[in-house]
Amino acid sequence: MNKFAIFGNPVAHSKSPQMHNAGFKKLNFDGEYVKHLIEDPNTLKNTFLQKRYLGANITVPHKEVAFNEADEVRGIANKIKAVNTYIYENDKIVAYNTDAPGFLKAIESFGVIKNVLLLGAGGTAKAIALALQESNINVTVLNRSEGKLDFFKNEGIKCSTWDSFETCDFDLVVNSTSAGLKDEYLPAPKEILDEVLEKASFAFDCVYGKITPFLALAKDKNCEVKDGEDMLLYQGVLAFEYFTKQKATQEIIETMRKALKE
Ligand code: NDP
Repeated sequence: MNKFAIFGNPVAHSKSPQMHNAGFKKLNFDGEYVKHLIEDPNTLKNTFLQKRYLGANITVPHKEVAFNEADEVRGIANKIKAVNTYIYENDKIVAYNTDAPGFLKAIESFGVIKNVLLLGAGGTAKAIALALQESNINVTVLNRSEGKLDFFKNEGIKCSTWDSFETCDFDLVVNSTSAGLKDEYLPAPKEILDEVLEKASFAFDCVYGKITPFLALAKDKNCEVKDGEDMLLYQGVLAFEYFTKQKATQEIIETMRKALKE
């Protein structure tokens, strides 16, 4: 039996086990995926090795530690400096970031996108901004406070706080803040959002399973809207392909999507 886990704190709410186990079953892959609470980040690497996991996903707040502890980091994760997937390969821990390509896959349904306004500057925003930049899509980051903006400035990404924001035409507005997750706050002042959403065609919220105040406002402004379900699904599908070393068929993807909703 090949063992896999999701590492996080908290981890009880995670839907990753149901999503991956459903995919394994459909594929007849001999695997089991469990939740693993990691309270002390210093134990992450040893836990992975001692429990003989073949692969793992890493969620909040351990993605940066997981990056630092990996033996080898592949792809865009080297720029993001955070990973969400571990694979045990040739006696080494190889790490990837599948949040970034998962986001790109999730916005494919919007068609061609040229200019994106990205609200928030946390870990998720780093993955999204670099994924967009790598795809030659213009991205501007807008955050409540200055503190987290240095990362984006160093990558040559345009960014500002609410106070210094100068509006322009964006076809997609993405909310990567946690505003709207548990509260009813908009992720930026309403005057700014009114103006950008009026001109935008699409709005995406990384929060999944609910219409946040941001998505409700975007709908009012006639934007096509999407929540974070597809992003969660596709980061999982890409990790699943690393775990099983097989391309996920449409049938597997739909099985995983169905399991997410259970
Ligand atoms: P972080 O804690 O790293 O960053 C949070 C960001 O949100 C910061 O930029 C912060 O601004 C901003 N923020 C928080 N509260 C408010 C508020 N009330 N108004 C305006 N800005 C606010 O979080 P993550 O990047 O890890 O996660 C962000 C969201 O993305 C979460 O809701 C998470 O659930 C979701 N997510 C979804 C995924 C999916 O697959 N669908 C995957 C990963 C995350 P400041 O710097 O000023 O504090």
